[in-house]
Amino acid sequence: MDRPAQSVVDGSKASPKDLPSIDRLLRAPAGTALVSEHGHTLVAAEARALLETLRERALAGTLPIAEVSVDSLIGQLHARVSARLAPRMRRVINLTGTVIHTNLGRAILAPEALAHLAAMMAGPNNLEYDLASGGRGDRDAIVEELLCTITGAQAATIVNNNAAAVVLTLAAFARGREVIVSRGELVEIGGAFRMPDVMASAGAKMVEVGTTNRTHLRDYEAAIGPRTALLMKVHTSNYAIQGFSASVDERELASLAHARGLSVATDLGSGSLVDLARWGLPREPLPQEKLAAGCDVVTFSGDKLLGGPQAGLIVGSREAIARIRRHPMKRAFRMSKLPLAALEATLRLYLRPERLEQDLPTLRLLTRPLDAIRGCAERLLPALADAVGPRFTVRTCELLGQIGSGSLPVESLRSAGLSIAPVQKRGAGRALESLEQALRALDRPVIGRIAEQQLLLDCRCLEDETELGSQLPALARLLS
Ligand SMILES: *Cc1c(COP(=O)(O)O)cnc(C)c1O
Repeated sequence: MDRPAQSVVDGSKASPKDLPSIDRLLRAPAGTALVSEHGHTLVAAEARALLETLRERALAGTLPIAEVSVDSLIGQLHARVSARLAPRMRRVINLTGTVIHTNLGRAILAPEALAHLAAMMAGPNNLEYDLASGGRGDRDAIVEELLCTITGAQAATIVNNNAAAVVLTLAAFARGREVIVSRGELVEIGGAFRMPDVMASAGAKMVEVGTTNRTHLRDYEAAIGPRTALLMKVHTSNYAIQGFSASVDERELASLAHARGLSVATDLGSGSLVDLARWGLPREPLPQEKLAAGCDVVTFSGDKLLGGPQAGLIVGSREAIARIRRHPMKRAFRMSKLPLAALEATLRLYLRPERLEQDLPTLRLLTRPLDAIRGCAERLLPALADAVGPRFTVRTCELLGQIGSGSLPVESLRSAGLSIAPVQKRGAGRALESLEQALRALDRPVIGRIAEQQLLLDCRCLEDETELGSQLPALARLLS
């Protein structure tokens, strides 16, 4: 007897020969039903993968006999097929307190943008077709006039994102030449976007001037040489240099540059198209101010404070924009018709700034009254406390949120929400982790944040309470 003693005695475990062939599995009535619903290709591939993993477990002697019944196998196959067909991109509920959250897709689109996007994608459109002349059109034309009206620019062009806008601007103005930038503005934003590397990738030579905390006009002046092409300003969107600090504003820089026959470009990062101070929010610089100060080019994102789709917007003088448009990289960075439709509808909302607070979800969330946020937390409290059970205490609390996406890093937004704390100090960390995991495992995952041994759910971005409320029974099941 050379088989391990256990598998002889333990009849509760299956052996590989207990597994059916793929063919037999798919010929079972529930198997043929699956095949007729989804087709043979997908179902057979999943059946093969399922049987392979079960065979391995059977060989290891760890496969319970109950799992090889036809009912169980079909159940497992069904689950695998459904999981394979389920989308990887999912809607989530953002209770992090950060309104424009890069990892959660940044700005959410206005209904007008969604509707225009869906309508334009459902059929052919005039993306590059001039309806007046019947000739070839330019996709920039769809938003250029809007952008010029809103920012006061002479011309505008668009690319995939602001990173592309910056690279393209640098390549068009300064390939093989020098760009002067302050040491206080050598920004790194999340991922691989670091100003020195961006300059190098565009083929421009970066010339740093000044110090981390102080840069003066004379520093730029002294660095200008025969190879200089551009003076560059970068908005320090995700950090602030405070205290003994000095920087040169665009107006002074533009006078210097233009006197020497050079150009000035500003990368604004977020760039809000309206003054947020109007709603009592911290101020973010506006592209229109930078243009009025004399900048030749201003670049900013479409999906940060602007509240639209991912996009890189480039506004500036007629000559500067023409030069950027002519560059071959423009074609490589050109924006797709999908975000373009959403961008057009979003920009159109800015023609009615008085209504923006209602019409633009990003602004609506940023300006949501504290009382409304508190009310939302209070209404959720009883059912949530019920769902998480006696191992946790749930309380409403005051919180500090953020605008996010590198906008206004030092400012926080007064907000409110719920804090969930484990009753027992021992194992509190693990309890919180499993709670967080259960929230993420819901059909519509709920994303909060852990701080000081509590799970915090900031209610600022929770406008549809039923979306969370209806999932609380499922949460209770996951936790039990
Ligand atoms: C966000 C940001 C970028 C990059 O913009 P994307 O639209 O994410 O590509 C570039 N520069 C600054 C200063 C930024 O804040």
